[in-house]
Amino acid sequence: MKVMVKAPAKINLSLDVLHKREDGYHEVEMIMTTIDLADRLELTLLDKDEIKIVSHNRFVPDDQRNLAYQAAHLLKERFQVKKGVSITIEKAIPVAAGLAGGSSDAAAALRGLNKLWDLGLSLDELAEIGTEIGSDVSFCVYGGTALATGRGEKIQQLPAPPTCWVILAKPFIGVSTADVYRRLDVEQVQHPNTAGMIEAINAGSYDDVCRNMGNVLEDVTLNMHPEVLQIKDQMKRFGADAVLMSGSGPTVFGLVHHDSRMHRIYNGLRGFCDQVFAVRMLGERHKLD
Ligand code: ATP
Repeated sequence: MKVMVKAPAKINLSLDVLHKREDGYHEVEMIMTTIDLADRLELTLLDKDEIKIVSHNRFVPDDQRNLAYQAAHLLKERFQVKKGVSITIEKAIPVAAGLAGGSSDAAAALRGLNKLWDLGLSLDELAEIGTEIGSDVSFCVYGGTALATGRGEKIQQLPAPPTCWVILAKPFIGVSTADVYRRLDVEQVQHPNTAGMIEAINAGSYDDVCRNMGNVLEDVTLNMHPEVLQIKDQMKRFGADAVLMSGSGPTVFGLVHHDSRMHRIYNGLRGFCDQVFAVRMLGERHKLD
């Protein structure tokens, strides 16, 4: 028996860090939305009690370090599953890019294994299990658009943002999220208007979504990697309505309404960056089938 699952990337329409907690995590307020750029996971049932990861991407570990492996391992332990699984990951999301590729693979593995191993869990239960793997995994279990608080694991669903193009440009570098948080001085940041972004999304106002985009991690990554700023400037020059770095970067995304401007930005940035994508936001939450 085989199950195929899609693992879409996310972008942060806004990302705020409120303070550092006693447990070492940062208290955050993030507005995230899934986009139509996805890894594909093929889960094959094994009679043998083992977890196998097959990945042809040299940046993706094929052992217990893989977040999809950790998802399978957690479910197996928790529900005493005696069957095994072979997980083949077809990677489309750039790695260490601020797009939560690993977290989304883990979330997709949770959704897919729920079906393959016939566990009968709800999305809420899967999201709860996901928090043990990483802060972004619970959001990725649901998908759609949400406000994430706490260390990122508390999810409040929001409506889909207004339809537009999202152009993503990744420079030729990877960024470690832990490193960016370590360098962040929470006292010095300029906080984005999270409430304003929620209002903009609820009102379906594209202009207000553009106006309220903000990410406190941007300056930290820009200081380490000036090429991120160059990409931001170019996207603006080619006509993006708003431009922001996603997560801890280094991927930059721009929003545009019109097809013609999307093509101009896409073509203008290709060759200058490692990877460029033009995609839509995915408004819908995942469903269990
Ligand atoms: P985030 O936006 O959540 O901070 P990211 O998009 O910046 O994450 P990932 O692509 O998830 O970063 O990769 C970060 C690291 O996680 C990689 O360097 C890789 O070693 C490890 N990793 C573990 N499992 C996976 C996976 N399934 N896909 C990609 N990377 C993985």
